[in-house]
Amino acid sequence: MALVVQKYGGTSVGSTEKIKHVASRVKRTRDAGNDVVVVVSAMAGETNKLVDLCNQMMDPPDPREYDVVVSTGEQVTIGLLAMALKTMGQDAISLMGFQVPIHTDSVYAKARISRIENAKIFDNLKAGKVVVVPGFQGIDETGNVTTLGRGGSDTSAVALAAALKADSCEIYTDVEGIYTTDPNIVPEARKIPKISYDEMLEMASLGAKVLQIRSVEFAKKYNVPLHVRSTFTETEGTWVTQEDEDMEQVVVSGVTYDKNEAKVSILHVPDRPGIAAKIFGPIAGASINVDMIIQNISIEGFTDLTFTVPRTDLTQALRIVEPIGKEIGASEIVTDDSVAKVSIVGTGMRSHSGIASKMFKALAEEGINIMMISTSEIKVSCVIESKYTELAVRVLHQAFDLSGETV
Ligand code: ADP
Ligand code: ASP
Ligand code: MG
Repeated sequence: MALVVQKYGGTSVGSTEKIKHVASRVKRTRDAGNDVVVVVSAMAGETNKLVDLCNQMMDPPDPREYDVVVSTGEQVTIGLLAMALKTMGQDAISLMGFQVPIHTDSVYAKARISRIENAKIFDNLKAGKVVVVPGFQGIDETGNVTTLGRGGSDTSAVALAAALKADSCEIYTDVEGIYTTDPNIVPEARKIPKISYDEMLEMASLGAKVLQIRSVEFAKKYNVPLHVRSTFTETEGTWVTQEDEDMEQVVVSGVTYDKNEAKVSILHVPDRPGIAAKIFGPIAGASINVDMIIQNISIEGFTDLTFTVPRTDLTQALRIVEPIGKEIGASEIVTDDSVAKVSIVGTGMRSHSGIASKMFKALAEEGINIMMISTSEIKVSCVIESKYTELAVRVLHQAFDLSGETV
């Protein structure tokens, strides 16, 4: 008998009909002789509604209370799925994050899982039940409810699979696997049969929201192979595993985009040691991820500093940066929240030249202006105006010849 962790995303549990469909898939796995732990997201759109409610009440919302509110979507779906299973004659129990418990740190809205207790889950499995656990939720050391960041149910599932030493971890979603780019933007995108943790980490960190980045970090750390596949078809999906020889050896394996970006420029900053540390230290202290940073050439002892942060963290970042800007004598702070980042990813880039220039040329031919660039061994990213995102993704997918049949 194997132990299987299955995670169903928001679209997969978007209505009572869909939850019944999920229940039948779960029951089928159980009937085949497996123990099953199911992780579910909130119904599609529910978490967005809860976030909106918080924003209407307080700007920015109180972090502790924000987590109390946004974690509730998953409470609904675990209860409904457990009921659907019971109706089909399969005993089941829902356990909230605090009942498992799933322990996290106290960084509200972006908490990290530190430990998962498995005794209660095993007791229920032993009693013949399917255990249904909410994604996204945890509890900190003092008993406060926490959430794991948007898309965090993937991470809940992988962390549970690691903690339970599950035989497999299946991520069920609304597409048939991981594609060369978002198939909802480029219908010709090709499904990748197998992808390495490292490549997937890069794609996830650059915006491919099909898996939350921390879920891939966990999978790599604990060597949990992931099977990303569709809830609505039987087709084999994509395996995310350690790198091996059967993986495709291509220069560019995918194109990603991230619209959750904002640009902050601090103008006329004195160019002297310690200024960058003074600005970026407190931002990091607030758990805000600064991505790209550009410092202009200094003129008469002054320079401009531009950096990007997630758009959802812009208000908080500004609250931190504005007093520092005043203190160091900056002339102005300018923000732009209509930017996006497009990237090309591929481990094959390590040994090829000319990839970045091909990307810049493809964007230029469409008249898309590049505001910022950053590169690593296996990716090139450009910040552009967000209204050009879809166009840029299509153009890059074509420029690097990523369409075609699955090999
Ligand atoms: P779920 O609710 O199941 O967690 P998400 O919406 O979080 O689903 O993730 C699935 C979505 O990820 C797809 O519908 C697709 O639009 C998007 N996506 C972005 N990049 C990719 C990619 N490279 N491959 C597959 N899907 C992608
Ligand atoms: N419901 C949460 C969200 O929408 C978590 C998840 O779906 O993974 O972000
Ligand atoms: Mg998701």
